[in-house]
Amino acid sequence: MISIGMDIGSVAAKGVLLNGDKQYKIVIPTGWSPREAGERILSEICKKADCKETQVASMVVTGYGRVAFEKADRTVTEISCHARGVAYLCPEVKTIIDVGGQDSKVISINPQGKVLDFAMNDKCAAGTGRFLQVTANALGLDVSEIGEREDPAEQAAINSMCTVFAESEIIGLLARNTSKGGIIAGLHQSVARRVVGMARRLGIQGKVAFTGGVALNRGVRRALEEELKSPVIVPEECQFTGALGAALLALK
Ligand code: ADP
Repeated sequence: MISIGMDIGSVAAKGVLLNGDKQYKIVIPTGWSPREAGERILSEICKKADCKETQVASMVVTGYGRVAFEKADRTVTEISCHARGVAYLCPEVKTIIDVGGQDSKVISINPQGKVLDFAMNDKCAAGTGRFLQVTANALGLDVSEIGEREDPAEQAAINSMCTVFAESEIIGLLARNTSKGGIIAGLHQSVARRVVGMARRLGIQGKVAFTGGVALNRGVRRALEEELKSPVIVPEECQFTGALGAALLALK
């Protein structure tokens, strides 16, 4: 049985196709049309898996763009899909910290991937990938580069939570010759402080997994471990946990 899970996010659209023990993945920019992103994922992932769209038995779609993609058999919330995906990849995890393009979430789960509780920040760009994208641009860098460019030994204090004010703060720090590596380390710490604050309010149980596109940034992971004072597990497919969870739910 072939199933597809899609996570059409604000920044990136991810797809996972499951065919027996084979797994295929694809990620593309969502762009301005979540519906077109869904269509593209469907055709490209079928091509990659060498199957026809008509052979797909079931398709579950999640993410902010899920309502726009009408070909889905079912839509499921991101919280449930991330929980299912992480429980499959790391059954020992009880707390998930997911930081995506425009929101961050903390989810408590049981070993079967059932959601016990969750908290979400989707009101403000602070503590999200958007904050890092905008501030990386202010430093003349792409968000995919900053994880490698930080210098925690020179960490600068970033006091503004607001993305717009943080951008001005960076311009001021650069004018005072603060190193870019130090500013980046400060930005990573700012994101980590914000999400760990939310996690503490929800309650941190057992082992913690860090997922979402921002988990690709090893500087944020370092900062998160510092704030939590304990290690976090980053699944290899950290950006795909929602899409994987959707594909697994589609098998049911
Ligand atoms: P969404 O589901 O909201 O589209 P994702 O979970 O896919 O979000 O995460 C997107 C965010 O991940 C981007 O805003 C960016 O900050 C971060 N990101 C994406 N690719 C990379 C990368 N290669 N290195 C570091 N960060 C990345």
